[in-house]
Amino acid sequence: MTATPLPGKDLARLIKEKAKAEAKALVEEGLRPTLAVVVATDDGSTHWYVRSIERAAEAAGIACRLVDLGPDATEQVLIRVLDDLSAEPSVNGIILQTPLPAGVRVDELVRHIAPEKDIDGANPLSLGLLAVGQPAFAPATARAVIEMLDHFEVPVAGRNVVVVGRSAVVGKPLALLLLKKDATVTICHSRSGALDKYTKDADVVVVAAGRPGLLTGGQVSSRSVVIDVGTNVLADGSLTGDVDAPSVSAVAASLTPVPGGVGTVTTSLLLLHTTAAAREQSSSLVPGAVA
Ligand code: NAP
Repeated sequence: MTATPLPGKDLARLIKEKAKAEAKALVEEGLRPTLAVVVATDDGSTHWYVRSIERAAEAAGIACRLVDLGPDATEQVLIRVLDDLSAEPSVNGIILQTPLPAGVRVDELVRHIAPEKDIDGANPLSLGLLAVGQPAFAPATARAVIEMLDHFEVPVAGRNVVVVGRSAVVGKPLALLLLKKDATVTICHSRSGALDKYTKDADVVVVAAGRPGLLTGGQVSSRSVVIDVGTNVLADGSLTGDVDAPSVSAVAASLTPVPGGVGTVTTSLLLLHTTAAAREQSSSLVPGAVA
């Protein structure tokens, strides 16, 4: 058996079209949705990624404001910039791009992204709101997994879903989103021991561990839908997931590719979240006051 590939390209295009239509409607109402991306590194691949966000935003009619503070930015400067952007009415969404300079506390910085502009769900307040089922932006990657499952009509209600990884940016928010869709969720992590005890019986396995080849064919079943969130850069510069694709493909029902899977959808969701934030912020203004 060969697993059916579940590519993200078509879904990403649909989401971008949705963001573009919403941006156009906002512009017609006098509001240009604006995304601010804060960068403080000279890491080439980060700048490449940020440029791809800028290009995608522009193509969707969303203004992208790059705030490049350089690799020596201090925590104090980063906090001031995030506070200013949070208070700036013309900015609707804020992304704080990692990596950040050594010694800077990411946990502290993300608290300075206003929750209503926190389009990548980085502020712990956003995660808390998600946990109690109140409106909040989920991290785009966690939502991308849900959108992939919906797009490919993979049912999760009443099904067993295993999430490998419990980070605040992927595993935990994803587990909350899955619970909201009535899945029975098991979260595995580095102390869970042998994964097959959990993954063999799962209808859906999502792997977000940052460990190339962690999930192998012997750990899944023929009914498993496998979602690979991992993006690992190998020594030769190539990108690989957390799933050992050849062996898992030989057993599982379906598998998302890396590259071209979840990551493709993630960027488009950042755009859609920006337009949603702009819409929300515009509706809280006095009619006619939208600039
Ligand atoms: P992270 O913060 O390093 O968390 C990794 C998680 O995996 C931790 O909970 C860790 O467990 C768990 N883990 C590590 N080794 C394990 C093992 N052998 N067995 C079971 N669990 C294990 O990473 P992250 O930020 O969540 O990212 C995870 C992956 O997703 C990375 O490859 C990252 O590049 C990728 N990612 C992709 C996107 C995208 O758009 N596609 C976006 C964000 C991240 P402990 O908690 O016990 O340490």
